[in-house]
Amino acid sequence: MAYDKNNIFAKIIQREIPCDKVYEDDFSLAFRDISPKAKIHVLVIPKGMYTGFDDFTDNASDKEKVGFSTAVSKVIKQLNLSEKGCRLISNLGNDGGQEVPHYHVHILGGETLGALIGK
Ligand code: AMP
Repeated sequence: MAYDKNNIFAKIIQREIPCDKVYEDDFSLAFRDISPKAKIHVLVIPKGMYTGFDDFTDNASDKEKVGFSTAVSKVIKQLNLSEKGCRLISNLGNDGGQEVPHYHVHILGGETLGALIGK
């Protein structure tokens, strides 16, 4: 899949559209999901142009990878989810239900979550 520079998360990174930011550093941005599926629902995205987990893993630099993982961990702590727990999800491609073609990790928490997948 080629990267679409006009996807909505690219526009958020470029500040073309606003987001409810919770964390930012050189490599990553985290903001609240516009349509939350749990009491706490935050998306963490790398600032680099990667379509999904596989593209990021194959093509991002080690600095970006370490930076992104660290950012996800920092956001979990910032949201006070470490003790009670949370769920990390990264949808990939059509069958995975990925809507936005820019790599992102969902952090869901703030309540006991249901089944992993609903059909
Ligand atoms: P996915 O299905 O994994 O691609 O998830 C994309 C997520 O992005 C969905 O949960 C949407 O609600 C969320 N989303 C779409 N547009 C925005 C936006 N402008 N700000 C925040 N979240 C968004």
